[in-house]
Order: sequence, then C-alpha cells, then structure tokens
Amino acid sequence: MRKAFITQENLSVLSGDLERAGRKVVVPRPSATGRMEYGAAQSGSLTHLGGALPARSLKATFLPPTEALLRWKNAKDDVVLEPSEPKALPTVVLGARPCDAAALAILDKVMDWDYHDDPWFARRKATTIVSLACDGVDSSCFCTSVGLSPDTTKGSDVLLTAVDGGYLVEALSEKGEALLEENKTRFTAARGEAQAAERRKAATDKVRKNLAVDARTVKDWLGGNFEHPFFKLGSRCHACGACAAVCPTCHCFDIVDEPEGLEGGTRRRNWDTCQTSKFTLHGSGHNPRNDQHARLRQRVMHKFHIYSERFGETLCTGCGRCARACPGGMDLLEALREIDKLRRSSRPSAAPIVTPTNPPISGGAR
Ligand code: SF4
Ligand code: SF4
Repeated sequence: MRKAFITQENLSVLSGDLERAGRKVVVPRPSATGRMEYGAAQSGSLTHLGGALPARSLKATFLPPTEALLRWKNAKDDVVLEPSEPKALPTVVLGARPCDAAALAILDKVMDWDYHDDPWFARRKATTIVSLACDGVDSSCFCTSVGLSPDTTKGSDVLLTAVDGGYLVEALSEKGEALLEENKTRFTAARGEAQAAERRKAATDKVRKNLAVDARTVKDWLGGNFEHPFFKLGSRCHACGACAAVCPTCHCFDIVDEPEGLEGGTRRRNWDTCQTSKFTLHGSGHNPRNDQHARLRQRVMHKFHIYSERFGETLCTGCGRCARACPGGMDLLEALREIDKLRRSSRPSAAPIVTPTNPPISGGAR
C-alpha cells in the first residue's frame, strides 16, 4: 500500500475538500468543557490532531446512544411497520486514535454474529478511518497488554504519524488508497519514516511500562474462578455506568417501544449497561446479578473471557477510559495485575495465549 506525506496546512485543506465533496468530517477537538471529544470538523480550523485521548470513543458515530429502528402506525385492523433507514452519511474520521479504530474491528464480530446489524454496517461502510499514531499516552493506557499498540493499524484505512512539518501517511486498505488517490494534489512523496518509527517506538515503550501483563493470558484463570473472592470488587462501584458509556467496546443496548398517542409509535434502541441492577432484573423480581460485585465480575468476564471464547478477541482496547471516568476509582490495570498474580500463583507456569478455536458458548452475554 502506498505511503505519502501531508503538511498540517494541507491536512486542514483536505478536511475542507472532503466537506465540499459531501463528506462529514469527524475530528478530535477540544469541546466546550475543555476536554477532547470527537466531533464535526469546523472548516479551516484543523490546526492539530494529536494530544490527549478524546474523553469518549468513536462508538457513538456508529452506534448512537439512542436510535429509531422503526415506526409503527395503528391502522383500522392492522399495524403498519415503517423501518427506519439508517443514517449513514459518507464520513471521514481524521485523527482517530488507533485504539478506537481497533475497537470498531473488534465490534464487527458481534454485530455480524447472530444478527447482521444493518445500521452499524451501513455506517462502517460509509466511513473511512484515518488514524493518527497516538502521542497522547498517559498512565491509564494499556493497549500493549491487549495485543494492540499506539500505532496499531487494526480497523484503520489510513495511518498518520506526526513528523517534522506534517504527517507520514500510510494507506492500509482500499478505502484508504481511494482517499489518497481522490485527493492526490494534497499529498507529496513520503518522508520522515525514520522519525515516525522512532516516535512510535517511544510511545509503545511508554505504554508497556504501565502494565507488564498480557491481558489475554487471564482468560483461562477467569473461566475457572467464577466464584473466587477476588470478585468482591463492587464495594467501590456506584453503578453509574460511566465506564460503559465511555468504553469503545461496551455495546449493550435495550430495545423499547415508545407509543406516541393512539396512532403509533417508535421502536428505539438505547445504550444500556450491565453495571446497573435493572439490566438483568427479571419480570418476576428475581435478579441473577443481584449485587454490584456480580455486575463488575460480569464486566471483567465479558471483556477478558466470554468475548474471547466466542470471537477470539479481547473486548478491551486498553484505552483506559473506564479508569479515567470512574468516580469510585475502579481501575482495570489494577484488576489485571491482581488477576495475573492469582493466575501465576495457581499455575506452575504462565498459560499460553488461547487462540480462537474454542466452540461458542451458548446463552449469556454477546
Ligand atoms: S464508572 Fe466506576 S462507579 Fe461507575 S459503574 Fe463503572 S465501575 Fe462502577
Ligand atoms: S474496558 Fe476500559 S480500558 Fe478497556 S476498552 Fe473499555 S474503557 Fe477502554
């Protein structure tokens, strides 16, 4: 795949070109609160793409927090259904963090599992992801522990790396190639490769220092220790759901029918989270996850055991957002360090990384 170079000025011009060509452009930018957030680019103001990880991930671009799936109308003797067309505008994300791009590829598995999620895939198809090798690593990041890195190419169509005077550009997919070809006047011959490699290595080394555990190796220990006292984790948890809201890979939603008078209504799906008590509350009043310990265990199990059993992927990119957002100080880095210690003390040698050959388990979380 081709490599090129683009100056900061030309990247800003490119953003305007894309908008004029009818594409929505999403960039990380400071929000009104001062935090970085992904949002629509403002023409001509694209000055810098790097810096801190946006507080929320790219998930909402593909799975909105609330979305109409269909409308119904009550006819005289019938109910007429009107499916809602997914809003899938041609979009380019400029400056996605590589962990957020990787999360999309991880979620593709569940979105095409027992049901093909049309709105998700319509938006995936309509979107080109231009990632920026991460230069905003902080003490909560642990992407290297889940098999990723600050310059992972998973889920990206183009990877940018900041170098002197602009960005080294690498196309990674046909969509990425097409973006470069359609806008070739904005790019010049590749340069800065040695500097890019140096910067990427420095970022990777920095993340590695945060957590010297391969989080994929805790899978088997989790599978065999469902009742372990370690899972009495919930006393610090407020059940606020912030961790799931900011997480790029938490994807649970609830589907509700909202009547609008006597004439009809809308079927919507809304983000939900396993961290609240009502998530598993049965109509009978029984709740199989009847305390916060059980709910937090579910979060850890789903991310590091259940999803990898089913899809061969860890349901976590190590972005660290859940730790940054948690008002109770819950920190997955801490939890993974502890599980790793327990795993090592219960086995004479570290378990090998499990490959996705296990048969799917039935029921439970997706
Ligand atoms: S953000 Fe923290 S307190 Fe809130 S549900 Fe998640 S773990 Fe619990
Ligand atoms: S579980 Fe936490 S660290 Fe992992 S992807 Fe979600 S927010 Fe990021």
